[in-house]
Amino acid sequence: MSAIETDVLVVGGGPAGSNVAYHLARRGHSVLLAEEHGQIGHPVQCAGLVSQRVLDMAGTQKMVLHEVRGATVWSPSLRPLSFKAPGTRAYVLSRSKLDFLLAERAARAGATIETGTKFVGAEVGGEGSEERVVAHLHTALGEDVQVRAKLVVGADGVASQVARAFRLRRPIEILPAFEAEMPFPGGDPEQVEIYLGNTLSPGLFGWWVPDGSGRARVGVGVRPGTGKTALEYYGALCRQIERQYHRPVPPPVEMVVAGIPIGLVPRTSGDRVMLVGDAAAQVKPLSGGGIFTGMRCAEIAAEVAHGALEKGDLGAASLQEYDRAWKGELGEELDRALYLRRIFLRLSDPEMERLLEVLSEREMLGSLVAFGDIDFPTIAARKLLAQSPSLLRLFPKALSAWLRRREELVPDLEAPVARRGRNAT
Ligand SMILES: Cc1cc2nc3c(=O)[nH]c(=O)nc-3n(C[C@H](O)[C@H](O)[C@H](O)COP(=O)(O)OP(=O)(O)OC[C@H]3O[C@@H](n4cnc5c(N)ncnc54)[C@H](O)[C@@H]3O)c2cc1C
Repeated sequence: MSAIETDVLVVGGGPAGSNVAYHLARRGHSVLLAEEHGQIGHPVQCAGLVSQRVLDMAGTQKMVLHEVRGATVWSPSLRPLSFKAPGTRAYVLSRSKLDFLLAERAARAGATIETGTKFVGAEVGGEGSEERVVAHLHTALGEDVQVRAKLVVGADGVASQVARAFRLRRPIEILPAFEAEMPFPGGDPEQVEIYLGNTLSPGLFGWWVPDGSGRARVGVGVRPGTGKTALEYYGALCRQIERQYHRPVPPPVEMVVAGIPIGLVPRTSGDRVMLVGDAAAQVKPLSGGGIFTGMRCAEIAAEVAHGALEKGDLGAASLQEYDRAWKGELGEELDRALYLRRIFLRLSDPEMERLLEVLSEREMLGSLVAFGDIDFPTIAARKLLAQSPSLLRLFPKALSAWLRRREELVPDLEAPVARRGRNAT
């Protein structure tokens, strides 16, 4: 059996893993990135809708396929709420190209990328300055490889084996999702479409994302335990779209079945280990989007890991700085969004209808456009609540409590939030 020495072993070649590998390699650390699939970026498991911040972090726009300016949200009875900004508010990416470009950038910075290489387990061994993680990898050629690393970064997605190997707690909720890509021009190519309702997509929503080439990514995320599969909800959504556009939805070109982790986990670091991205449940609870959060947390993880490697202290107490730092920057938004999600989960279809009716008022639509930000949706939520007492009256207890909690923690909403950057709908 062969053995490899490295400063950092990164497990997973998605956006979070490649970003952490890049930021560590460019600081001069030896990095080995192990990806279980034979090709980076395949299979694709994503609608690829992101904000400008993701392009900024990736340092390129080469993976952008299309730009969108707004959304149409369909109520359970198919009444539309439409809003459109004057300029681009979000980007539709080739997700496989994003992953490829990020891995390529990490490799150019000096990281070694091993595809077809699966992490299967690890233990910490050795004493004092000789202490290392001994990780076990299995290659597609059937070879077992041992890696001795000072640090392991688990960027291995929702079912993280690194988290399991290091006994870090998993997210409580994992939403099954199904998405298909199909040649279907559908509605307005400058808007995404969102479908709400307990019949179509209980627990999250259905989506239709145009990619600018006449194709669309159509999918659903649902709460588990409803007695139906995500595929069945997807079928219902397709029938809905067929009724809406009076033509059959064609068979999919590509399909995705995946899980979306929701909810903060207590620890995303431990002795010689850090988790980033979906492995750490760094996902926006109101949309299930995790590219921005995962990539940003990867930058933070690399910064903390660099300091810890320099000091030679990779113990749990030292790496806990990572938990503090990313939760300090994003934890409040995720926490507020989780609370709003819990309210959303309790809504009946008639209550959702009423909610969208209130949001259709002209001033409310203006605020949605002005403050809508796919990475920080609770900012617009608070604006809307402050603006419309009728919205507050829909769920007086829960929303008043939410506003109070937010005010305690965010005294001045207009103050710049770290790295909030450009707005995106
Ligand atoms: C249907 C769907 C649509 C989505 N749409 C959007 C969207 O529009 N916008 C958005 O921001 N987010 C979206 N998301 C969420 C987004 O896809 C994830 O948040 C994002 O991919 C997380 O990136 P990551 O690098 O943490 O993990 P991943 O992208 O999951 O990458 C993990 C990598 O680790 C590898 N791996 C796993 N186990 C091992 C192992 N044992 N050894 C080696 N390698 C391993 C995997 O092969 C994979 O390449 C969507 C998710 C789903 C399911």
